[in-house]
Amino acid sequence: NGAPPASASESGVQVIVRIRPPNGEEEESDLIVQKTSPNSVSILDHTFTFDSVADVGSTQEALFQLVGIPLVENCLAGFNSSIFAYGQTGSGKTYTMWGPPSALSEGSSLSSERGLTPRVFELLFSRIAEEQAKHSDRQLIYHCCCSFLEIYNEQITDLLDPTQRNLQIREDTKVGVYVDNLTEENVCTMKDVTQLLIKGLANRRTGATSVNVESSRSHCVFTCIVKCQSKNTADGFNSLRISRINLVDLAGSERQKLTDAAGERLREAGNINRSLSQLGNLINILAEVSQSGKHRHIPYRDSKLTFLLQESLGGNAKLAMICAISPSQSCKSESFSTLRFAQRAK
Ligand code: ADP
Ligand code: MG
Repeated sequence: NGAPPASASESGVQVIVRIRPPNGEEEESDLIVQKTSPNSVSILDHTFTFDSVADVGSTQEALFQLVGIPLVENCLAGFNSSIFAYGQTGSGKTYTMWGPPSALSEGSSLSSERGLTPRVFELLFSRIAEEQAKHSDRQLIYHCCCSFLEIYNEQITDLLDPTQRNLQIREDTKVGVYVDNLTEENVCTMKDVTQLLIKGLANRRTGATSVNVESSRSHCVFTCIVKCQSKNTADGFNSLRISRINLVDLAGSERQKLTDAAGERLREAGNINRSLSQLGNLINILAEVSQSGKHRHIPYRDSKLTFLLQESLGGNAKLAMICAISPSQSCKSESFSTLRFAQRAK
């Protein structure tokens, strides 16, 4: 039927570059980044090619079509599926993943500015209802259970209950990797999801966008575990399929200045640089492994983020990396650095 094919690029990692529109302070003459084809972008006289490029005019709906629909289809097909937003602070990661706060507020009509996450759940719930109606020989029972956490300075905080700090990651032979004491909430409706998003985002360290606020230095991970129990009505045969969706708003990728930092601040800057470069390394290794078929040691344990998400980063898991860039001259070196990171993920 009409379901689009579950697509990831050959390497298993789909890489998309999104260029945010200029803000009030950026003048037309300062803009140095341009989309030059559906999948290439030029910055000054360099050109980079990815799976897709979303330029300044691309809508939230277009981004959803590009990465949100495949994510939901992959999840329903039983694959762990993740979307990461990477880029310097101010490049549009949060806008892309959740949307502006006004677009999430309850009671407002559906805003065209709402981000990927609400759109993903709208589709997930409607596709679940569709799957349930489709089969007469089987009864499908779905459970969706969400958590929302922040990793700041290699420490995990529960965004749904911020009194829970410094939570520990555990491994269990039966349930796999999990975070001890993390709040998990069942969701059945958009209202449930929206409430969790609003609550969790309000608990992020700071909302404002400035290079120095703490929110730009933490990774924010929204996870939904989708369980599908299938009962054959004729023979009573039961099966259970579990897959995960991870929606990750990464810490700002700007180089953390170490010169003036000392003590806690120095340790923190090192941790951010390290966890992002470890994620990059890991994705790079995964891309290589899937292309060459060769086995390689995969360094999941190097950071909290990769350790936590290891079951969603290798094997059959599907990944989309949205690399957000600012269009202006003043962001030139960070934009180059983001595009090089994105290139390595291919
Ligand atoms: P980041 O999370 O990477 O620090 P934000 O998502 O907070 O960046 O975006 C910075 C600012 O730019 C915000 O005011 C946001 O609303 C705006 N913005 C980002 N991307 C877009 C876009 N595609 N269209 C319109 N406004 C955008
Ligand atoms: Mg942000």
